[in-house]
Amino acid sequence: MDIFEKLAARSHEQVVLCHDPVTGLRAIIAIHDTTLGPALGGTRMWTYADDGAALKDALRLSRGMTYKSAASGLNLGGGKAVIIGNSKTDKNEMLFRSYGRFVQGIAGRYITAEDVGTSVQDMEWVRMETDHVVGISRSLGGSGDPSPFTALGVLGGMRAALNWQTGSDSLSGKSVAVQGVGHVGYHLVRHVIEAGGRVVVADIDSDNLRKVTTDFDGVEIVEPDTIYDAPCDIFAPCALGAVINDETLPKLKCSIVAGSANNVLDKDRHATALAERGILYAPDYVVNAGGLMNVANELEGYNDARATQQVQGIYDITTEIFRIAREESITTAEAADTLAERRIASIARIKDSYVGQPVRRLRH
Ligand code: NAD
Repeated sequence: MDIFEKLAARSHEQVVLCHDPVTGLRAIIAIHDTTLGPALGGTRMWTYADDGAALKDALRLSRGMTYKSAASGLNLGGGKAVIIGNSKTDKNEMLFRSYGRFVQGIAGRYITAEDVGTSVQDMEWVRMETDHVVGISRSLGGSGDPSPFTALGVLGGMRAALNWQTGSDSLSGKSVAVQGVGHVGYHLVRHVIEAGGRVVVADIDSDNLRKVTTDFDGVEIVEPDTIYDAPCDIFAPCALGAVINDETLPKLKCSIVAGSANNVLDKDRHATALAERGILYAPDYVVNAGGLMNVANELEGYNDARATQQVQGIYDITTEIFRIAREESITTAEAADTLAERRIASIARIKDSYVGQPVRRLRH
């Protein structure tokens, strides 16, 4: 395996292989870019087919975090870790404390958090061994569940898209099709209804469907495979990645796509295909950054009001991306990457003059 070739291909800085024969820990920590600050990103636990697949995932996800933090205006770099194992059967305190010691050993260049396959409980074990972990429960002074903040950010992205298209960001009378009413989708439905919008939802989990229809009036349910056909102003994917693909794209009857799901476009070319159909795409990693902004606040003492204010800024960031796309005749997905890359490049150019004890706040 040409590991250095893989790092060079996407300019990754560092990969740390963590192995503890006692606990059985096998983890890979990937640090993509720390120009803006320490690399922050969650720890995923997954049964990878082989070590190469685990490395590939860690490299891909860590790079994604660099772009997400940079576009969000955070002074954080991009990192991600994967623990190779079955999250249902292989978890225990020893494993996560062992992992926490490795994170501590990287001395703050990488800050971890929960991700697919790991939980707040797991991170509390990690926290027994390291200061470099966020996403801790509120009872321990942390930021708690990120989902309401993610939903608030998606709402801001939707409003920015509506405003860009129609000159008004009001959701009153607008219809939103929400795919997946789990942690984020539930709060998104609440926001849209409170703002006077109409909601149609689909989910494969009947308990989650029941919760939204019990808690909110007027929510319409459709089958999971017909949500793409639902006539609506906004399609909000809040379940899975790659749902905008060759098969679903011709079905869409919306004028905006804005949701929380990561990697919502199956291929890069689907951004162009959406634009060609007159559908405005609010880039996934920009509009779903509310959860990241919320956990990042823990690094300097968690404050709910400050986190909320920061998440509300997603509206302006999304608008800026639409402006770049229009002025430079590129897709909104490319514009998001452009915004992130320009910010990293510009901060890297600041003259490194002597300032005594340097200060760099991790958020604005
Ligand atoms: P979740 O697991 O709580 O909810 C996902 C929901 O989607 C579940 O109710 C599930 O049953 C449903 N679902 C799964 N397959 C489906 C299908 N084929 N059709 C319709 N519904 C389906 O997850 P979440 O925390 O709400 O996150 C939703 C998405 O947003 C995920 O892609 C996640 O990676 C992303 N995201 C979440 C956060 C956050 O703060 N939770 C932050 C950033 C991104």
